[in-house]
Parts: sequence; structure tokens; C-alpha cells
Amino acid sequence: MTASILPRKPLGNTGIEVSCLGLGCVKLGRNEGVKYPSGFTLPDDKEARQILAVARDQGINLIDTAPAYGSSEERLGKLLESRQQWVLSSKVGEEFEQGQSRFDFSARHVRFSVERSLKRLRTDYLDLVLIHSDGNDRDIIENSACIETLVRCREQGLIRAFGMSTKTVAGGLLAVSACDVVMLTYNPDATEDGTVIAAAAEAGKGVLIKKALGSGHLLMADQRNESSSAPEQADPVARSMAFVFAREGVSSIIIGTINPVHIRHNCETALRVLKKP
Ligand code: NAP
Repeated sequence: MTASILPRKPLGNTGIEVSCLGLGCVKLGRNEGVKYPSGFTLPDDKEARQILAVARDQGINLIDTAPAYGSSEERLGKLLESRQQWVLSSKVGEEFEQGQSRFDFSARHVRFSVERSLKRLRTDYLDLVLIHSDGNDRDIIENSACIETLVRCREQGLIRAFGMSTKTVAGGLLAVSACDVVMLTYNPDATEDGTVIAAAAEAGKGVLIKKALGSGHLLMADQRNESSSAPEQADPVARSMAFVFAREGVSSIIIGTINPVHIRHNCETALRVLKKP
């Protein structure tokens, strides 16, 4: 049976169209130093191919990865077929080595990182590169050469757009002015970035949502709390999606999953939620 295809939305003014759900690929390449509710084994190549095939068949065209996601970029480079079908988003600034994160927002490192992502992902352009913030959003924007280096990469056609995955409201607002796209945390338990979403919508900037399910913790909390009988109310995925999609300006919710059943469920849920008046 053919699934209904997820709608696509403009990623701000970038000219890029993204599916309203994206596939977050942390769990494809890294299982240490992560904050998910339970441990997991990285999918093998056969499982990873299935994850990507299910995502594609459901209409997901947006893939989010990062150098800090262990082997994620390299595996995607090996496993992704037909580059043109996908909108590839990676990051710069964070490295994860020997179980530790380190950050480098210098021009030299940012350029090196973009070129390395191109090699790892086996492509000659990235659709999007996000600054992987260490929490000092303002300092990175105002006092590093990160943004000017990404502007240069965009001018040279190495990347189509750039943005920042922020950790503070003040930083998010600055990123709206300085970038094409912002990646923000937003869910029923984390609403602070609502101000940033509104500013981005007003400015025509793209908005990607991370941790819409609270990295899975919202689902655990809801399992303990299942009192409602109405299916929409009882499903925490539907509740979070309805909450996030109600915000004007959200281009896509990036959900991190390595479970094909969850991908299908999430896509069906998004379709249902978006159809509601
Ligand atoms: P998330 O999408 O809120 O939650 C992912 C967790 O929820 C996974 O453990 C997943 O487990 C589970 N899940 C997903 N769908 C489910 C379903 N239908 N039923 C039950 N469980 C389900 O959190 P996230 O992965 O932390 O964030 C999403 C993405 O945003 C990341 O993958 C990454 O691409 C990006 N991100 C970026 C940053 C940054 O730039 N600083 C930080 C965090 C995240 P299963 O694998 O079992 O489905």
C-alpha cells in the first residue's frame, strides 16, 4: 500500500523545500554521550538502508547529521542513493572524539569541517550547514569568524544555506538576523524558543525543530500518565506534533529515530495533525 506523502514547506527564503518531518541521524552513528532515555545499538548497514528507504517512501527528504554524530556522516555518504532526492543538512563547530565534545568555531576549522562533510557525504554541495552551538550562542555569532566563513562557502556554492542550532533565546534572536535558518528546541515542555520562532517567521527565515519529543523523554513521561481515552490525546507524538505545527513559521520537525515503525507512525501522525483545521 502506498503511503500518503508528507507535505513540503519552504525553508524560509532559501529556495529549499523540506518535508515537514526530517530524519535526525544522531542514532545512526553515535551511542555514547547521548541523552536518550535508554541505550541502543547502532543499526547495521542493512537496518540503516531500511530506515532511509522507509523515510524516503514516506516522503521525508530532509536528513540532519553532524560531524559530532560519530560515524553518521560517513555512513550516510555510503548508504544514500541518488543525492538529488535529499536535502542534506550537516553542522560545524562540534567534534566528538574519545567520548568528549570539543568546539572550534575558527575560520580555518569551519572551512575544514565543511570540506570534510562534503567528502564524507560524497557530494559536492550541502543544502544546509548549521553552527553546532556549545551554548555560547552570542559569543559565536559576535566574536568568531564562523558566520563570515559560512557566507563565503555559500558564495562558492559549497553550501546552499547556513544556520545555527542555538541553545539560548538571545542567541536564537541574533541567529535569526545573521543566518538563513535556525534550529530550535520546541515541545510542550520547552516553549522558550517560541519567541525565536515568531521572529524567524516574521523575517522569512527557515525554522527546524529539534527535540520535539524531548529526545524521547516526553514519551516516557506520557507512558506513565496515560489517562485520556481519546487517541489524539493519548498519543504523546500527536500531542507534541500538534503543539509544534500550530506555530506559524515551522518548516520541519527533525525527529531522531532508527526505528522504521516509529518513522511510519510519525509520518502518519504528522499527516493527520496537519489535516486538522
Ligand atoms: P527527538 O526527536 O525529540 O526524540 C528522539 C527519540 O524519540 C529517540 O530515542 C527515538 O527512539 C524516540 N522516538 C521517535 N519517534 C518515536 C515514536 N513514534 N515512538 C516512540 N519513540 C519514538 O530528539 P533528538 O533525537 O534529540 O532530536 C532530534 C534531532 O535533532 C536529532 O536527531 C538531531 O538531528 C537534531 N539535534 C540537534 C542538536 C543540536 O544541533 N545541538 C541537538 C539535539 C538534536 P527510536 O529510535 O526508538 O525511535
